Amino acid sequence: MTQRLTGGSAEIIDVPARFLPPANPELGPGVLVLSCPICGALHRHGAGDPENPAYGQRVAHCKTGPGGAYNLVPMEAAR
Ligand SMILES: [Zn+2]
Repeated sequence: MTQRLTGGSAEIIDVPARFLPPANPELGPGVLVLSCPICGALHRHGAGDPENPAYGQRVAHCKTGPGGAYNLVPMEAAR
């Protein structure tokens, strides 16, 4: 069930992301951290439910470069 964003200029690539759970669940959801394949910086995305982190397609948070999007996948699969 791979969906692809349309209208982008580049293919959506899979990027391993590391889930960081919240220190205290009452503080909110954890985050997904990744090394951006587009600009090389670290980006964070909200992970939603800590019990079931929301991987999947995201718009890159690039501050430099062409920007784009990627498909976050669990880091464990890339170890
Ligand atoms: Zn980036």
